[in-house]
Amino acid sequence: MTVLRFDNVSKRYDSGHEALSEVSFEVAPGEMLFVTGHSGAGKSTLLKLIHLSERPSRGAVLFGERSLHKVGGRRVALHRREIGVVFQDHRLLADRSVADNVALPLLLRGLRRPDIGRRVRATLEKVGLGARAEALPGQLSAGEQQRVGIARAIIGEPRLLVADEPTGNLDPTLSAEIMALFQSLPERGTSVLVASHDLALVKRMRKRVLVLNQGRLVDDIAPEDLAE
Ligand code: ADP
Ligand code: ADP
Repeated sequence: MTVLRFDNVSKRYDSGHEALSEVSFEVAPGEMLFVTGHSGAGKSTLLKLIHLSERPSRGAVLFGERSLHKVGGRRVALHRREIGVVFQDHRLLADRSVADNVALPLLLRGLRRPDIGRRVRATLEKVGLGARAEALPGQLSAGEQQRVGIARAIIGEPRLLVADEPTGNLDPTLSAEIMALFQSLPERGTSVLVASHDLALVKRMRKRVLVLNQGRLVDDIAPEDLAE
């Protein structure tokens, strides 16, 4: 069984630049893995094909049984509900409280207010922000803001969590903490795919690593094969 499958996927932008070339891999339920490579290697593009911000030029992306090329129109939004997305710049709403930001995915889903409140409190506790629910994002440190972004991404209990350079703005200590959160927080069964150019940080996590180089998948390293 797979949660995600890339089958010979290529992506050429309108500029003519081929950002991904014949990329194939599978992700199992509950698996955590990284995608690494230099800036411009195609990491962001790979994630965008998963949350349908971009479409492949060739090949197929499958999410469970769903072939994503068949997902269009309003079904794009429904597809995204099953994926939690964490961005480097976290994209929080500056004029809404931490709690309101985290509640957003559940509000969009039409859950009842009391249920939302309970889940928001529990999720903020999990990421260590139980005391900051009423703060505005601008009042938080960079690391705390990223925790809010993670809380918002996991509150809907997605089958897959994807993160694009989630530690790009953080110092090494905070980066390690945030990576540990990705490992510990999602519900059992949630797969986690994190893009990061920071190979040293990625290796310390002792997880599977996909390596992109100029759009090609040049390595798929098992945890036991990661050298010190
Ligand atoms: P990474 O996330 O590894 O830095 P990206 O996926 O962002 O890599 O980019 C891969 C390549 O595709 C880069 O050469 C980048 O300049 C190019 N690229 C990214 N987005 C676009 C776009 N919208 N139009 C044209 N080229 C793009
Ligand atoms: P940039 O233009 O900054 O390189 P994008 O515009 O590709 O990055 O990133 C925004 C895209 O991410 C939008 O197309 C939007 O549809 C998508 N997006 C924003 N929030 C989410 C989300 N929570 N889940 C999935 N996709 C999202």
